[in-house]
Amino acid sequence: MKTAAQKQPWFGFYASAALFAFALSALLVATNAAPRKNHPDMLVPIVMYHHVGDWGKANSDWAPYVVKPQEFQRQLDWLLANQFHTITFQELLAYESSNMRPPAHSVILTFDDGWAEDVDIAKNFLAPRGMRGVFFVYTGAVAQQDNGSGYVSWNQVRQLEEAGQEVQSHTVSHSPLDTLAPSRLQFEMINSRDEMQAHVGHPVEVLAYPFGHHDARVIQATRDAGYKLGIAADDEPVAVLPREEWGNFQVRRFKVGYGDGIDVFAARMAEHAQK
Ligand SMILES: [Zn+2]
Repeated sequence: MKTAAQKQPWFGFYASAALFAFALSALLVATNAAPRKNHPDMLVPIVMYHHVGDWGKANSDWAPYVVKPQEFQRQLDWLLANQFHTITFQELLAYESSNMRPPAHSVILTFDDGWAEDVDIAKNFLAPRGMRGVFFVYTGAVAQQDNGSGYVSWNQVRQLEEAGQEVQSHTVSHSPLDTLAPSRLQFEMINSRDEMQAHVGHPVEVLAYPFGHHDARVIQATRDAGYKLGIAADDEPVAVLPREEWGNFQVRRFKVGYGDGIDVFAARMAEHAQK
């Protein structure tokens, strides 16, 4: 006796289609459930700096954000001695879009806020070692001309880029984004990017959240504005948001402070290697 499937060939087709759809959805569920191992900060350690100087001890509030020049030098030389080489976020994104992992021992060095000393950091510390950094600049602080304001001018932004460094967005006004109304939030994202792109000659697709403040609304606005990566201030826990969903917009960095010697730096790099 023939089964219904043999009598009615279409049944077999639908049964196969249903089986295929089921298998596909099972595969998708499995893919979603599998931990994503390619968060940018898992592929590459990202170091956060603000200032390089000797004044951290006298300004205790700032001490976590100042690194002594000798220590900074030691950290860079440690990276070289341990076969690390610097890449930029643009390079990281290029690897990601080609589905390639960055080479082993890649590291990203970031410098926040656009201080005028960035030019000296690039010239005196990075360039002699063939290293590149990423400088997060907020456009509201950038002067039209070099004017001694303490912040870079657009001329200096272009100098950094011409010297092989990379400049990315740190918003317009450096306000904590999670406190802003939607229209202001959008302005901070889009205006900073558009103004910066007019000077740097590459797409500005990476945003560092001022003070690291970000929540689901801020992340969504960052995405909607067309950024590809959102960078947190340091490695503060971000477990309140689903990291699997927001990984590229919760990229973590580690900070090196005034009192941290090379042993602390080396330990932080080793922690990263264990992720
Ligand atoms: Zn900042």
